[in-house]
Amino acid sequence: MRRIQRDDLVEVRSGKDRGRRGQVRQVFPARDRLIVTGINMVKRHIKPTQIGQPAGIIEREATLHASKVMVVCPICDRGARVGFRVRADGAKTRVCRRCDEDID
Ligand SMILES: [Zn+2]
Repeated sequence: MRRIQRDDLVEVRSGKDRGRRGQVRQVFPARDRLIVTGINMVKRHIKPTQIGQPAGIIEREATLHASKVMVVCPICDRGARVGFRVRADGAKTRVCRRCDEDID
């Protein structure tokens, strides 16, 4: 189980989008990087490679390093460090290390 998963709400802790929140759209575990909706937007200059394809500048998300974000705890509504706990039924859950409540 990973600390940060797809669809998690995360808060950016450093960089140009520090303090902003967004939902994790994609995780790249091998590279420790994420794509978060609306965070780390970059402008891409698009040249038409086929006839009829428009040229121009579009904005889209770039990946950012997983260490730059913290999962927002649904209970305390703050960026939290994530721990793990095995429940009595054997299922492993993520816990907020600030309030000790389950995140999942
Ligand atoms: Zn919490």
